[in-house]
Amino acid sequence: MRLLLWLVVLLTTPLAAAAQSLLLVPDRVFTATDAASRPGWKVLVAGDRIVAVGPDIVAPAGARTLVLPGMTLLPGLIDLHVHLFLHPYDEASWNDQLIKEPLALRTARAVAHARATLMAGFTTVRDLGTEGAGDADAGLEAAIAQHIVPGPRLLIANRALVATGAYGPKGYAFDVPQGAEEVSGVDDVVAAVRRQIAHGADWVKFYADYRWGPGEPSRATFSLEELKAGIAAAHDAGRKVAVHASTPEGMRRATLAGADTIEHGNDGTPEIFRLMRAHGVAFCPTLAASDAIARYAGWNGAAPEPEAIRAKRRSYAAARESGVALCVGGDTGVFAHGDNAREIALMAVWGMASGEALRAATAGNAAILGLADRIGTIAPGRLADLVAVAGDPVADPMALGKVRLVVQNGAIVRAP
Ligand SMILES: [Zn+2]
Repeated sequence: MRLLLWLVVLLTTPLAAAAQSLLLVPDRVFTATDAASRPGWKVLVAGDRIVAVGPDIVAPAGARTLVLPGMTLLPGLIDLHVHLFLHPYDEASWNDQLIKEPLALRTARAVAHARATLMAGFTTVRDLGTEGAGDADAGLEAAIAQHIVPGPRLLIANRALVATGAYGPKGYAFDVPQGAEEVSGVDDVVAAVRRQIAHGADWVKFYADYRWGPGEPSRATFSLEELKAGIAAAHDAGRKVAVHASTPEGMRRATLAGADTIEHGNDGTPEIFRLMRAHGVAFCPTLAASDAIARYAGWNGAAPEPEAIRAKRRSYAAARESGVALCVGGDTGVFAHGDNAREIALMAVWGMASGEALRAATAGNAAILGLADRIGTIAPGRLADLVAVAGDPVADPMALGKVRLVVQNGAIVRAP
């Protein structure tokens, strides 16, 4: 009897799932192979893959058809700079989160953040450091992969690396936990990179500059030799490298040392962006983090803009002018998880065509991750990571806030 039951389960569940076809019929499709949305197109999914996209697709016998009136279907969105173990700084300062919130609380929050991220249509995110939550990102990544909790495909950077004494929290009468692993000297940098990879890092993250004290400007921290050795060790292990750098000198060292992406670039110059382009380094401007931090400090979003916002606009304009590849990641966690699309909207509001910002957040981000053959576009053979939003985000990026359907690996995880 039990054997018979197992046979029935075996014959019905996996085979039926593999054969299940889903025809999605939105008003229009944004494939991310270019910057346009196409009225009247449909997408056919079978199992976990996209099998067809175009105007004249006929559903095979037995397929489920889902009509999505008024909606645009897009590839699953990708955020290349999140911190699932942080929550908005107007709820608790970064210092307080690191020092006062126990690891179990931070991990429980991260589980909720992962779910909110997926429900907002972000099916892949790169988490750039647990910020003091140790190796907990590896456990979260495993819990999502094993379908224990819902969340996006995660690429994690584990503890990240800072030069000894350069980061925080600081200014306490006793030693407090730090926001990243402190290390100095070529041999110790290499050892820390290898240890973090062994603990699960898919990407390696360095802080190439930081302010040594409150009110000070950022200054380059790691030497060029330390960065070169650490990045080479990561590349030897098949891991790419993200580098936090805001100063021209930090960005220059990161570029010459072989970084794959540079984060923030608040004071980036035309020369530095041209150097990055020549070396094939992508730039994540994290506009949404600067916007959020300025608002937490009292800015109302209108003129007069604080100097930090004016500097960010200059840097972003110089980056766009240089032709450097732009990656899309808001430093989500500084503001609420689930609001990840703020970065795409700001990139558009600050001058990029909406369709190009959308392409950067899908096809562009997938290419930077080295996953363009699996995610980031709607094309036959790609994984069926899809999102439908009300309206047309090519005409109005605010439509990205109106997510109605999320499909992950072919499974509907948010239904309209
Ligand atoms: Zn960050």
